[in-house]
Amino acid sequence: MAAAFVDTARITVRSGAGGNGAVSFHREKYVAAGGPDGGDGGRGGDIVVRIDDHMSTLMDFRYKRKYTAENGGNGQGKRCSGKDGAPLVIKVPRGTVIRDADTNEIICDMSQTESFVLCRGGNGGWGNKHFATPTRQVPNFAKAGLPGRTREVVLELKLLADVGLVGFPNVGKSTLLSVVTKANPKIANYHFTTLWPNLGVVFVDEGASFVLADIPGIIEGAAEGAGLGHDFLRHVDRCRLLIHVVDVSGSEGRDPIADFEAINAELAEYSPELAARPMIVAANKVDILADQSLLDKFRAHVEGKGYELFEISAAAHQGTRELMAHTARLLGDLPPVTVYEPTYVERPPEVDTSAPLQIEHEDGRWFVDGPWLQRLMANVNFGDYESRSWFDKKLRESGLFDTLEEMGIQDGDTVCLYNLEFEYQR
Ligand code: GDP
Ligand code: MG
Repeated sequence: MAAAFVDTARITVRSGAGGNGAVSFHREKYVAAGGPDGGDGGRGGDIVVRIDDHMSTLMDFRYKRKYTAENGGNGQGKRCSGKDGAPLVIKVPRGTVIRDADTNEIICDMSQTESFVLCRGGNGGWGNKHFATPTRQVPNFAKAGLPGRTREVVLELKLLADVGLVGFPNVGKSTLLSVVTKANPKIANYHFTTLWPNLGVVFVDEGASFVLADIPGIIEGAAEGAGLGHDFLRHVDRCRLLIHVVDVSGSEGRDPIADFEAINAELAEYSPELAARPMIVAANKVDILADQSLLDKFRAHVEGKGYELFEISAAAHQGTRELMAHTARLLGDLPPVTVYEPTYVERPPEVDTSAPLQIEHEDGRWFVDGPWLQRLMANVNFGDYESRSWFDKKLRESGLFDTLEEMGIQDGDTVCLYNLEFEYQR
């Protein structure tokens, strides 16, 4: 048997830390005390996720589970900045949904978003060249870079197809796909021939086209985890319409009505929403129909439930065009393929703000330093108002401003927190 199709993976990613700023002084002959010339640390590399249309499974993530971007280089003397860390690009097949591993919330659906920054690298620290003031001739301190961010995520592949073929193994799904598209799925007369989904594009006369997916056969009990099948149903989650293929020939002694109901029950078990998806029934293998009454009874049953039935022979290319033309017409009135909206909510990190901070000041500039402040700042998105207010609240709670007041800070003084500077206002 071929290797199993891999369509979920759990990985850990870490963006690079920012490099440290340098402490350095300009040295020149005949110049007694040169000015500070320590350069800034480089930014840490981002973790970027990008769609690769040549990929069709998450197989690559089976063995490699940790992804780390480069750290930023440290700053150097002579005002040289450290090198920025290279971003690490993780390639995924189109249709991969990225979820937070702890909460299962959707972070990003990689179906239309070609590229997504999953973790930003930490900012580099400032070198001491920033800290020269008229009276501070020799600032002998610089700032550490901010740490990178670690995240655990689950990747889940959910194919992007307009139409999904469902049905028992061996009913002719792969044959149908191969006949109406240029796809080359494996076709064989035994069950479980299809081990992973195949996609093909169906071109219909009027220039209309749609994507058809053949997913592995569902077996009874799959919804309870009995075997192959249930896992694969995630690949029809996005489909706008299902074609339910049923073998009506009676050639394997199967009862089409029982098969039809069994598959519908599986779909409902997996997701009631999926069971309610528009569905057309393809009664296949009519070329070797043994008993016309079997088909008649089946048609009455299916139509009685409000579904449309098409008699086809995938192998003999009979009725397949009509089925596809009708499918295209129905699709015209259906909403587009589902793209999942992010549900992930950023939660502020737990930071113990009770530890004292290091404060230095000179000439109306206040330099504040400390491990928790560093961690806090690595997690704040300064472009986002809520994130900024949260940061402000944390700073207040920590008592930093009270301390600064006690030390004599004046309105209009500058507060420097790593690479953030702001004017102090009571
Ligand atoms: P899947 O498991 O549903 O994908 O089924 P396949 O497409 O692999 O087909 C299973 C077997 O049924 C193969 O031997 C096919 O050649 C055969 N088959 C598929 N469609 C037809 C049909 O319309 N008529 C006949 N006689 N055989 C068919
Ligand atoms: Mg197949």
